[in-house]
Amino acid sequence: MSNLIYPTTNFKATETLTMERGDGAYVYDNEGNQYLEALAGLWCTSLGYNNRELIDAAAEQMGQLSFSHMFGGKTHQVGMDLADKLTAMLPVENAKVFFGNSGSDANDSQIKMLRYYNNAIGKPEKFKIIARERSYHGVTLAAACLTGLHANHTYFDLPFDALGILRTDAPHYYRGALPGESEEQFVDRIVNNLEQLILKEGANTIAAFIAEPITGASGVIVPPKGYYQKVQAVLNKYDILFWADEVITGFGRTGNDFGCTTVGIEKPDMMSMAKQLSSAYMPISAAAIRGDMYEAMIEPSAAVGAFGHGFTYSGHPVASAVALKTLEIYERDNIFGHAATIGEYMQKRMAEFRDHPLVGEVRGAGMVGAVEMVANKKTGEAFNNGAAGAFAVQACQNHGMITRAVAGNSLAFCPPLIVNEAQIDEMIEKLGKALDETLDFVTREGMI
Ligand code: PMP
Repeated sequence: MSNLIYPTTNFKATETLTMERGDGAYVYDNEGNQYLEALAGLWCTSLGYNNRELIDAAAEQMGQLSFSHMFGGKTHQVGMDLADKLTAMLPVENAKVFFGNSGSDANDSQIKMLRYYNNAIGKPEKFKIIARERSYHGVTLAAACLTGLHANHTYFDLPFDALGILRTDAPHYYRGALPGESEEQFVDRIVNNLEQLILKEGANTIAAFIAEPITGASGVIVPPKGYYQKVQAVLNKYDILFWADEVITGFGRTGNDFGCTTVGIEKPDMMSMAKQLSSAYMPISAAAIRGDMYEAMIEPSAAVGAFGHGFTYSGHPVASAVALKTLEIYERDNIFGHAATIGEYMQKRMAEFRDHPLVGEVRGAGMVGAVEMVANKKTGEAFNNGAAGAFAVQACQNHGMITRAVAGNSLAFCPPLIVNEAQIDEMIEKLGKALDETLDFVTREGMI
């Protein structure tokens, strides 16, 4: 186990799996066992492992300029090139972008830029943020407050009240609908709840609404049609910004360039990105905001002497070079188009599990999906612990496939964007075996 404090780990669980190398869509442990990486690491290794071009981009940049910071006007060409290439891809108007190292810090940076901006335009009281139940936005102190999952709060004394995070419904029809409620009625009810929350708190105190267009860590929630259009209308009415957390859904994952496109959010005001931005070959994140928000921040930064926010590694040249090469490969090889085609196939194949006796819901879009296992298929009753999910993950592993259980007993799938149909077939075959074995297990244990 070594002296590591493992991240996001049950410290009492003693099983470990030592990974040694990766190639394409596969990883190998230290005993030489091969696994299909069906979650692309943590939803991030879009171009798979051992990509020679990304390795060379990193090595060349290390040889040329391994580090240079970006404080006080220092810059470097590769960082500027990345900013320009990235912002040209974004639906954010006249986007400007701030670089960091992780999805969590991108979200922290966004909170700070929101505050800076609203102070700059004379609206210091407009700092609260609406986040949703069961959302995942990271684990640094501020990002963890945005996150709506209890494991990220309990024992940490979070969320902080002073941060002004407000909570609204998760748009999960399967879990959230009232008996007899149609999808449309469900959407109308939760959007009305959102509006009532805004009225109760006062629109003049609320800066933004943050959402993952399609969630990841909270179980791959795909909202019903029309949800975001209705949310957007409410936000427009009360002058509240739409902040898209695209840390998972960005860069071809959901069958389009960004998750916003897939779910019909036309013009997000802010976008957070990480993970697939560099295909996870180097840590890098991006917090994009509308150009006019940046313009408003110029005067105050001069008044203070500096915009007092920046990381040593903001715009790290090696991470920038790798991200730039990643974006070039996406474009040159039409990776998003490929992901859209394979994604359709993946969704079709995953849908076959709708009839499985253990499966309550199959959901997803493009190349991200989840299979939720339930105690009662008819009523949708959930298991009251995560044993089924843990068993199924281990069963997948035994069959040579890596996945994760999210939201308890949903198995998540998010393979590298480069996989082919045969590898999706392999994923489905292994999932089928794991589900059958898990059904035997829960039956044996009297859990079903
Ligand atoms: N936002 C979303 C939507 C995420 O899925 C994640 C990570 N899974 C984060 C933020 C946090 O990113 P990181 O782990 O790089 O801090």
